[in-house]
Amino acid sequence: MDVSVKNIRKEFDRYPALNDVSLDIRSGELIALLGPSGSGKTTLLRLIAGLEQPTLGSIHFGAEDASHKTVQERHVGFVFQHYALFRHMTVADNIAFGLTVRPRGERPPKAEIRRRVGELLEMVQLSGLEKRYPNQLSGGQRQRVALARAMAIEPKVLLLDEPFGALDAKVRKELRRWLREFHDRTGHTTVFVTHDQEEALELADRVVVMSQGKIEQVGSSDDVYDRPNSPFVFSFIGDSASLPVTVAEGGILFQETPIGITSAAGDTAAGTLFFRPQDVVLVADPQAPALEGRVATSRRLAGTRIADIDIGRAGAAHHVEIEIPLDAQAANGSTLRFRPTRWKLFGEQA
Ligand code: ADP
Ligand code: MG
Repeated sequence: MDVSVKNIRKEFDRYPALNDVSLDIRSGELIALLGPSGSGKTTLLRLIAGLEQPTLGSIHFGAEDASHKTVQERHVGFVFQHYALFRHMTVADNIAFGLTVRPRGERPPKAEIRRRVGELLEMVQLSGLEKRYPNQLSGGQRQRVALARAMAIEPKVLLLDEPFGALDAKVRKELRRWLREFHDRTGHTTVFVTHDQEEALELADRVVVMSQGKIEQVGSSDDVYDRPNSPFVFSFIGDSASLPVTVAEGGILFQETPIGITSAAGDTAAGTLFFRPQDVVLVADPQAPALEGRVATSRRLAGTRIADIDIGRAGAAHHVEIEIPLDAQAANGSTLRFRPTRWKLFGEQA
């Protein structure tokens, strides 16, 4: 089911939690809403579900305007961070819940429900646990039961709000891979909310980066990591360094000194230069233009070294982290000269 969010604004007490948000979700895709806490992810998910009404804008399911449909009419499945399984019900009864509460005419016969529950348990790889109660399951198993319960109603869209957020790191990683495989098998249109960039990048077909009630960028994991289109996306996803620079005759200058890289056509006269710690080379020739700084500290990672560099004039010093070879001479207090190999310059307002 294609879902189309059109120019949504959502206010809570006049405060806009979402401001002019538009998004086309394609049938069968797994899309991640990624952003810091408070950026509006949950609000957007609840609007798609029909748990909230937009202040402005509309939501379409396929060709149909679903804005005024109820949660039930939209046929969406949910999973939240805190597994809201019914504690007094068995796994089987939890999964069957959405079917058993249907009005008489639409309720499948008991034998049919039992068969569906068996199928769903198999799908989430929990066959044999139907008689257990939630407190007899691990956290990861409970989240898979929650997923099976959401799937039981054959949802048109599956909405997952930080479903693995309460689990420990190892289980989260396992469930992340499992969910990706599960999605590839079942092909449900899925919207997955997370504030964890690693989770979003690994899991999603497309990532929607949100900040302060707005969508900053929509793209593949490669797009948002390699081609961030705003300072926010550049610094939110992955490690980054940034410096204020100016542009003169096509060259990029830091504190009036050329640093050995040229600007792209269309770059403004001044802005903020962003680059990733791993995208630098050391410059050996003392005459060659480069960024020059003093090593504050450095630390070894597995196959490389990270150096904290103080760069720029006293009183206007900046701090950047760069990745250097393990055998580089980088004693604390020594001078390092380097140049970004990949970078992006964002104009003045950055
Ligand atoms: P996220 O899921 O990205 O952390 P939310 O969508 O939960 O963000 O919240 C976005 C903003 O809307 C926050 O500032 C939050 O405080 C506000 N907000 C969310 N729900 C409500 C509500 N029911 N009443 C008032 N403010 C709300
Ligand atoms: Mg949230």
